[in-house]
Amino acid sequence: MPDPDSRDLAEELIAVEDRWGAHNYRPLDVIIDHASGVWAYGVDGRRYLDCLSAYSALNQGHCHPRILQALQEQAARVTLTSRAFRNGQLPRFVEELARLCGMEMVLPMNTGAEAVESAIKAVRRWGYARKGIPHDHAQIIVCENNFHGRTTTISGFSSEPLYRDGFGPFTPGFVSVPFGDAEALAEAITPNTCAFLFEPIQCEAGILIPPDGYLREAAEICSRERVLMAADEIQTGLGRTGCMLACQYEGVQPDVYILGKALSGGVYPVSAVVSSQEILGVFRPGSHGSTYGGNPLACAVARAALRVIEEERLADRSAELGAWLLYELRKIRHPHIKEIRGRGLLIGIELMVPARSYCERLKDLGLLCKETHDYVIRLAPPLIISQEDLAWAVGQVRRAFEE
Ligand SMILES: *Cc1c(COP(=O)(O)O)cnc(C)c1O
Repeated sequence: MPDPDSRDLAEELIAVEDRWGAHNYRPLDVIIDHASGVWAYGVDGRRYLDCLSAYSALNQGHCHPRILQALQEQAARVTLTSRAFRNGQLPRFVEELARLCGMEMVLPMNTGAEAVESAIKAVRRWGYARKGIPHDHAQIIVCENNFHGRTTTISGFSSEPLYRDGFGPFTPGFVSVPFGDAEALAEAITPNTCAFLFEPIQCEAGILIPPDGYLREAAEICSRERVLMAADEIQTGLGRTGCMLACQYEGVQPDVYILGKALSGGVYPVSAVVSSQEILGVFRPGSHGSTYGGNPLACAVARAALRVIEEERLADRSAELGAWLLYELRKIRHPHIKEIRGRGLLIGIELMVPARSYCERLKDLGLLCKETHDYVIRLAPPLIISQEDLAWAVGQVRRAFEE
């Protein structure tokens, strides 16, 4: 049982946060004090199995010792040079990441939304320079129910009122098509279309998996029409879905990968646009930048984070454990469960009722997860999880539905 002192502390912290912090989130009332691997420890003295992984930023688990070591060593040397000067970590990072993605060039940034914005700038400029689109007329096709971040431009092409309302006027140049419908994509393309921006699996929309063959068809259409395919793999990438990159599930190599989240293993904000020389070559000195983008601390952390994914075979683990988890979860029968779907260790339990109360119940049972789009419980534990811990999680989910 939590002792009264810790309950007082928790109540005080929640009250102070609510008073002084903007209310742009509605967190579960668990206050994490420290964490290691798949386990998070609350100020209440309890331990919780993390099945959100900070929206897949923690694929490598909390506080991975090798990533922390890279952070500490680099922090003691030099943390920020700005891009006015060079640093010794950036060249290694961009080469390693480009090779991992089978690409030629990397543009390092910090947050996911910034990388999406950078990709938008790149494909627009490519459209003018390479495709001959008339100046300021480039169009980008996006998908309904997309989630690409929170900047004004990105919020503007969201179809979710919650993300958009009251934030206009918005950036023009985006058109929306239904996700999973290759024909609709083909019909939306005009001579001014420079790119198709998509998520291989729509995570925030509720773990929506497109029909098999969709990405391949989209790739054929895009290549035929000279439209760049820009895959936002910020959440699906780096092992989460059982492949290093989710596009690889259909053997598709897009023109642009956008990465973030697990690129740093949850230790530091690191994102990147990964593409060809032809596309990223549109940036010349002065045309784009970021004070912290590509800083030596970020690059050292990201290099360690990538090494962990490769050496601990996290993509393979995700495929194997994910298949097992899906199979086990599907044995749970309950009238509130509408569908259980997933790929790798990215699983959605869609309910007939709002998922929040189940997430609260799971928290009380020691399992942390978060509803996505009201009706879906997302299960996305760190990819380093053991089968034993995963079996424990299945047991808690079963209990949550039995109670
Ligand atoms: C999280 C996420 C983003 C935004 O990343 P931030 O680091 O929060 O800016 C963009 N696209 C997808 C698919 C994401 O999951």
